[in-house]
Amino acid sequence: MKLAKLISAAAFAFALLANPAFAETCCEKAKAAGKECAHPCCVKAVKDGKVCEKCNPKK
Ligand SMILES: [Zn+2]
Ligand SMILES: [Zn+2]
Repeated sequence: MKLAKLISAAAFAFALLANPAFAETCCEKAKAAGKECAHPCCVKAVKDGKVCEKCNPKK
C-alpha cells in the first residue's frame, strides 16, 4: 500500500498548489475586498508601516 500513500500525498500537495485561496494571505484577501485586514497582528504591523510577517511570510 506504499504506492497508494504516495499518490494521496502527491494529490494533496497538488491540491494545495492548485488552490489559489490557500496562497492568498488574510491581508491580500482584505485588500482584494477593498478593506484593510482586521487581524490585530496585521493592524499593528500596518500602523508601523510594515506588513505582518506572521500572516505574510516571505515567498
Ligand atoms: Zn492580515
Ligand atoms: Zn497578521
